[in-house]
Amino acid sequence: MVLAESYSLNEHHGAVLPSPGMGHIIPLLEFAKRLVVHHGFRVSFVNITTEASTAQTDLLHSTSLPSGLHVVDLPPTDVSSLVNDEMLIVHRIGVIVEESLKCLDTVLIQLGKPKALIIDVFCTQGFDVGKQLSIPVYSFFTPSAAFCAFTLYHPTMDREVEGEFIDLPEPVKVPGCSPVRTEDLLDQIRNRKNDEYRYYFGHVRRLCEASGIFLNTWEDLEPVPLKAIRENPFYQKILTPPVYPIRPLIKEHEEVTKVDAKYLAWLDQQPEDSVLFIVPGSGGTMTAAQVIEFAWGLELSQQRFIWVVRKPSDASASATFFNVGGDVNDPKAYLPENFVERTRGRGVVVRSWASQVAFLRHRVTGGFLSHCGWNSSLESMTYGVPIIAWPLYAEQRANATMLAEEIGVAVKPVRGDGDTVFGREEIERVVRLLMEGEEGKVIRSKAKKLQESAAKALDSGGCSYESLSRVVKRWKDLSAPI
Ligand code: UDP
Repeated sequence: MVLAESYSLNEHHGAVLPSPGMGHIIPLLEFAKRLVVHHGFRVSFVNITTEASTAQTDLLHSTSLPSGLHVVDLPPTDVSSLVNDEMLIVHRIGVIVEESLKCLDTVLIQLGKPKALIIDVFCTQGFDVGKQLSIPVYSFFTPSAAFCAFTLYHPTMDREVEGEFIDLPEPVKVPGCSPVRTEDLLDQIRNRKNDEYRYYFGHVRRLCEASGIFLNTWEDLEPVPLKAIRENPFYQKILTPPVYPIRPLIKEHEEVTKVDAKYLAWLDQQPEDSVLFIVPGSGGTMTAAQVIEFAWGLELSQQRFIWVVRKPSDASASATFFNVGGDVNDPKAYLPENFVERTRGRGVVVRSWASQVAFLRHRVTGGFLSHCGWNSSLESMTYGVPIIAWPLYAEQRANATMLAEEIGVAVKPVRGDGDTVFGREEIERVVRLLMEGEEGKVIRSKAKKLQESAAKALDSGGCSYESLSRVVKRWKDLSAPI
């Protein structure tokens, strides 16, 4: 184990514990950086190394971390007899986390007991260790405030609903919030009899044990769920801890590889708002048949694009979760014949991983075809880029609905009844609609307005900054834990 150094008891020292996966590591790392740079904390970033993807390892061992932020690598554990490739993703994460965190108490003691422990939603073993060591434990909830409200309501549903949630005759009425359609329910709760549900629910049901919940959102983006969580009697009755929306916390700095620099130079040559950027999230994949249809639709649309491609998988929509970034696939093996040659000059195919924020913030990026993970959604809104919603896994279907139907910055492609893929005509239609249609103009103008709102929330005098400052002050005022 790499224990960077231990801290004396009078230092302002916090520990941040993310669960595996870039969608968790990235926002918690940004949070840790803010604690160091803006609030004078020293932070131990406790890294679960077992089965970490190349992208995760590269990110955490880059040289650009501020001094005062130390990555503490937990020793890899041998989980080979406990996990396999057929396991559903949260089940596998659950096992890895369980095994990796057996030494958490020892590590925190060796580090000199932090003043606060901030944990990811899938690392709730942290609550037990916090209790044992008298360290207050906060939750950093990586999805939206709307999904936080849903999660707080989930134990009630689990108690009251018989059978499967997806068979409910009506949308789920989350107190004080927009109802959630059963087709938008996340994968992890579609079968309550499997191990994935057991692991998933085992973690999320503990959310109220936190001393406070940090939310990666801002007041003007999600006023309804934030008001509900704070004021609706349901959340008071279940003793919901205080929630702190801490503004859109997205990557401030991103290492740009040589390959990405080449593509960014290509972007420099293109007209404003003319390029569609396509990324399937941190671990997402399409089926082989969908990749073919998608490529044809994109080509037919005649629009400029940058497409991050991954080897297709018919077995899982999140097939690259544990190995993203290390994928040395050859796109020619699964794209339509001569696709790359035919679209040369108009489109670029990037393998596996790209510096997403660097591409999104470029003035020529005029659309983002995204799986609607919450971080990607925030990044897109922060840079005012309208979205084609292509949810793949987790709570992304609900995010897509919120972005398209409530916030109005996204459009959803439509799949014919009984179809297993979106056809090329539909892809062509939706790409043209966003990039050159009248409807696209309306969506783009909403996205640009939202960008202003995000910028206001990012202003360091904003209320999000204040709410984090208040919590940090409380930690600083704590006498050293006993
Ligand atoms: N990301 C990236 N390059 C890629 C794919 C993803 O930098 O090629 C980053 C993206 O910017 C975001 C994170 O990975 O910060 C993905 O998080 P999100 O919550 O959107 O999706 P998930 O992790 O659930 O797939």
